[in-house]
Amino acid sequence: RRPESPSDTIAAIATAPGRGGIGVVRVSGRGLEAFARELCGFVPQPRIARFARFMDARQQALDEGLLLFFPAPYSFTGEDVIELQGHGGPVVMQMLLARCLELGARLAEPGEFTKRAFLNGKLDLAQAEGVADLIEASTAAAARSALRSLSGVFSREVEGIRDGLIDLRMLVEATLDFPEEELDFLHAAHAFERLDGLRARVDDLLDRAAQGALLRSGVNVVLVGQPNVGKSSLLNQLAGEERAIVTAVAGTTRDALRETVQIEGIPLHIIDTAGLRDTADEVERIGIARTWREIERADVILRLVDRCGETGAEEGIDARLPGGVERIVVHNKIDLRGEAARRELRDGTVHVHLSAREGAGIDLLRAELLRVAGWHAHGEDVVLARERHLEALRDTAAAIVRAGECGDALELLAEELRAAQDALGSITGEFSADDLLGVIFSRFCIGK
Ligand code: GDP
Ligand code: ZN
Repeated sequence: RRPESPSDTIAAIATAPGRGGIGVVRVSGRGLEAFARELCGFVPQPRIARFARFMDARQQALDEGLLLFFPAPYSFTGEDVIELQGHGGPVVMQMLLARCLELGARLAEPGEFTKRAFLNGKLDLAQAEGVADLIEASTAAAARSALRSLSGVFSREVEGIRDGLIDLRMLVEATLDFPEEELDFLHAAHAFERLDGLRARVDDLLDRAAQGALLRSGVNVVLVGQPNVGKSSLLNQLAGEERAIVTAVAGTTRDALRETVQIEGIPLHIIDTAGLRDTADEVERIGIARTWREIERADVILRLVDRCGETGAEEGIDARLPGGVERIVVHNKIDLRGEAARRELRDGTVHVHLSAREGAGIDLLRAELLRVAGWHAHGEDVVLARERHLEALRDTAAAIVRAGECGDALELLAEELRAAQDALGSITGEFSADDLLGVIFSRFCIGK
């Protein structure tokens, strides 16, 4: 069961810091009618925007704008929610917030509105995480799949599998009460086929969730190559028309050494090692040290060369690059040699011949990067997922496999099914040990 939601009133500025046409202060708590009356002299009708003057303690207007009132339980948090839509200046917003605190609210912690939505059963855990992932999405594809998680698509699939596991457990536990011909009974009920079916559904969901995790976190690419080999040109080509949307994302950290582009919605975090030079500048050195730490997490190293196999000054960098990481060799400037774009495999390493200036062969490189990333999804069935979800799904799959190996040890089988169910339940935040009993008694009438 979820813990009780706290009963105090919380408030926060809900819009991004800075100046804007509108700024919103959001308040959530219980019994906020009195709060509204003190703030603007009336209790607004539910869910209807109304013009209001927001007053201070001496009945002086602080700002004017719209007031919205969402009485419990029909609000985001499931509590009474009030939204003050004022003018979006930092000082005005601070004044409105201070007034809300004066009226008894306390400052909300990060994510606390969503946490309350979870505690009040408006969202499950995976949906709550979807809220954060939507806000943090760095590509349109990531945003779309975060919305799918938020709206419960992922959760419903998890719950569907969980229901299947519960049904099987009920069957197995009921069978335990009839010591003779237990296995025959289970076979007659197609229990083991159903187990296989659930395994397949978990595997499918895990695959799509892994694709979603990729959309969320992206791929770390390290770009190496001598000066003038065409690194900047290649970056520009890879970014293509989609560059605008990536750079337009507010609040993303940008520095000279790191650039994010996207391929089919997968963020590629590209570290240009041209910036990794020796320097006496302290700030630059800190940046470079941080970059090296990122390089240690590289997924793929892109080596750019002018002519076949050429290496040189960058070998110092090369020696420090992580071993065991996939490498792609890019032979640039094929236009100068009148060559055609092509991909070839040489000693287990992929070589792509292209022209960063003309764009020939860029599609080959894109496909190669997607392959290395492990991206093979298509369509709208990708669910944005976190490592936590993947682990839970893997645990579920492992428990189902063990369940299938139990033979006639039915107590063990029941236990493995329970482990699978618990692992799944951790995704949505339901720990349903008691639920199971409820389900057994209500649906199976075993108490006779
Ligand atoms: P970087 O120093 O590695 O970043 O290399 P740049 O991207 O700045 O490119 C160096 C020079 O090579 C520039 O004059 C580019 O226009 C040129 N260049 C880059 N790629 C190509 C290419 O595919 N074909 C030709 N002909 N020139 C290129
Ligand atoms: Zn797949």
